[in-house]
Amino acid sequence: MRFVIIGGDAAGMSAASRAKRNLSDLEVIVLEQTRDVSYSACGMPYNIADPEREMDDLVVRHPHVFREKQGIDLRTGHQVKFIDRPAKTVVGSDFEGREFHIPYDKLLIATGASPIIPSLPGFDLPGVMALKSLEDGRRIKEFIRTQGVTKAVIMGMGYISLEMCEALRTRGIGVDMVKPRPVFIPWINEKLSSMVREEVETNGVNIHLGHEVDRIEKEGNTLRVICSGLLLEGQMILVGVGVRPDSQLAARAGLELGPSGAIAVDRTLRTSDKDIYAAGDCADAFHVVTGQRVWIPLALRANRGGWAVADNVTGAKVVLEGVAGTAVFKVFELQVARTGLSVAEAEESGFEPVEVVIESRSRAHAHPRASKIAVQMVGDRKSGRILGAQLVGREGVAHRVNALAVALHQRMTVDEFSQCDLAYAPPFSPVWDPMLTAANQLLKRL
Ligand SMILES: Cc1cc2nc3c(=O)[nH]c(=O)nc-3n(C[C@H](O)[C@H](O)[C@H](O)COP(=O)(O)OP(=O)(O)OC[C@H]3O[C@@H](n4cnc5c(N)ncnc54)[C@H](O)[C@@H]3O)c2cc1C
Repeated sequence: MRFVIIGGDAAGMSAASRAKRNLSDLEVIVLEQTRDVSYSACGMPYNIADPEREMDDLVVRHPHVFREKQGIDLRTGHQVKFIDRPAKTVVGSDFEGREFHIPYDKLLIATGASPIIPSLPGFDLPGVMALKSLEDGRRIKEFIRTQGVTKAVIMGMGYISLEMCEALRTRGIGVDMVKPRPVFIPWINEKLSSMVREEVETNGVNIHLGHEVDRIEKEGNTLRVICSGLLLEGQMILVGVGVRPDSQLAARAGLELGPSGAIAVDRTLRTSDKDIYAAGDCADAFHVVTGQRVWIPLALRANRGGWAVADNVTGAKVVLEGVAGTAVFKVFELQVARTGLSVAEAEESGFEPVEVVIESRSRAHAHPRASKIAVQMVGDRKSGRILGAQLVGREGVAHRVNALAVALHQRMTVDEFSQCDLAYAPPFSPVWDPMLTAANQLLKRL
């Protein structure tokens, strides 16, 4: 049997490796359009922050290891342009322009997501860049090194833009951030969002909300971002306005797409064609709280999806429950995390959300280096279920959000979560962990 995979990063290479481990005589062909496979995109902002580090430190496993040690037929520089479903063949061309036609028995589409680049004047100028692939990372790092960048403008204020504002400030570069919407981080509670904003501004970043970008112009080696009622300048512009699923190949092949434009898959990650699977950022998933289709492009889901497809292709039956949207990032000294639904998302999904926001400490009262931690928790008045939580603090944020993610997978009520036996010692938390304090307060309001 021949298993063909389009895309050679998190989902694609996880699937290829696991399929070969499961069934060593399976023929596995991976087609990757770039020269890079299996790297940590998530590490790029931290790598850019450090001029001494090579971008290629982020490569987890090199192509020759997949080919020589694992027996995977990995073909870099191979771009798939068309899936011929009746002929069960993928068609494309390689770096040299040679066309290929490769038949498959089972196919995995793992093409990821692409950055959104507004189609406005000046977005094709040198120095206007997005950060998605390892090649983008190399390009940005080289640009900073060779062009003596002292000022940069970041468009967008999502988590990658915030990680990049820290990276650029670490390198002594002045940063202006701009976006059209008037709210800084719309998906978190206002109080938590203002804590993040304060941290970013304290570190010398200028935040400009409510300014629509009109165009970019170049004058000498300065790029001018012309916005409604604002003019920003820098030698480098980072476009971080979001990503969209790379689902065009699937759409052209007549496969079903979900509401967000990602490839629709069932819980075994099969598409509307029984021989074609999709995993990672190009595919959608079911939300464990709502049971509805969602598109949440994150790394664990891609790796786990790759494994599940490999198991299903090689004969086991793996059914994935779904995602809770658990995410964490750091900006300067603050950690920010979320899992489950915000109040607005809960309302949209037909719940009757009730919210609390509490402030507590990361360690026991008066323990050295204890710091403020804010927790927002949402419950459903009708069922008493926990629906989600958000946290901001200087330490201990990720493990706390993970506890709540487990509760969401188990569909726990706020009452049940408030009875959980969480760890305590003074260097790690108050006796009542902030998550329990939030749950206890929420219980009173339900
Ligand atoms: C800067 C940055 C920071 C991030 N930080 C985090 C984080 O902290 N936590 C987290 O959970 N997630 C993070 N992510 C997201 C995470 O990297 C992605 O969710 C993950 O890489 C998705 O894996 P994937 O395999 O689905 O897609 P990708 O990693 O995008 O890989 C898709 C591959 O398919 C190839 N491809 C596309 N089309 C074709 C074609 N037609 N033919 C051949 N090959 C093709 C592409 O070249 C690419 O190599 C971050 C992403 C970025 C960019």
